[in-house]
Amino acid sequence: MTGHAARQADCARLDPQFVEDLISANRILYDQGVLDAYGHVSARDPDDPNRFWLSRSMPPALVSPEDLLEFDIGGEPIAAGGRKVFFERYIHSEVYRSRRDVMAVLHCHSPGLIPFCNSATALRPMTQPAGFLGAGAPVFELREVDDGADMLIRTPAQGRALAQALGRSAVVLIRGHGAVIVGNSIRQAVWRGIYSEMNAKQQLEAARLGPIRFLSPEEAEHAAKTVPNDPARTWTLWKHRVSRTSD
Ligand SMILES: [Zn+2]
Repeated sequence: MTGHAARQADCARLDPQFVEDLISANRILYDQGVLDAYGHVSARDPDDPNRFWLSRSMPPALVSPEDLLEFDIGGEPIAAGGRKVFFERYIHSEVYRSRRDVMAVLHCHSPGLIPFCNSATALRPMTQPAGFLGAGAPVFELREVDDGADMLIRTPAQGRALAQALGRSAVVLIRGHGAVIVGNSIRQAVWRGIYSEMNAKQQLEAARLGPIRFLSPEEAEHAAKTVPNDPARTWTLWKHRVSRTSD
């Protein structure tokens, strides 16, 4: 990284496992088609609930520990040192502020989700792993708070309105833009990102066959609470793929 290669990473004080998971999350979400050159994933500081960690503005697949920056709960970097930050960082700060249970936030524009952002059809769970979609993901209408009309979330007020639309849900879709997906850990946010995208594709396929019999709200609630008996299985596989491709 030019100009900063010699400096110690800002995240050096953190648990190495936390750093490794956040770096892996960036790479896995790219590998799985949830993030592309854009979008971002952050994690709340494990030692300070009023801080979170997010990369500088760059493609997620290329993020290294040196690129992770610390932010306060207002969405401002603690010490960016001239590094460029995401202007949509207020998505993260306002979700962390309003949801104390949330430990990781993903913002993506993944292609499978966009049809559900822009239509009246709700994204609803097709299978057990997507039970976190509950009775259907809410849709946030940015036009109501977008004074610049550029369809981007650039201010704390816009981030706050988005967090309100998210409510207690795991996923909120943003019309004409993408989605925000939250988790109680980095790994859960990654899981939800991947299964949201997969569910969207399955739902579109099923719609071609006629009316869809979704998981009922009760089934979804039960599925969302179910802890897999091998929770590391998916993470191990997804991580293996990005470890090999980065060799
Ligand atoms: Zn965006």
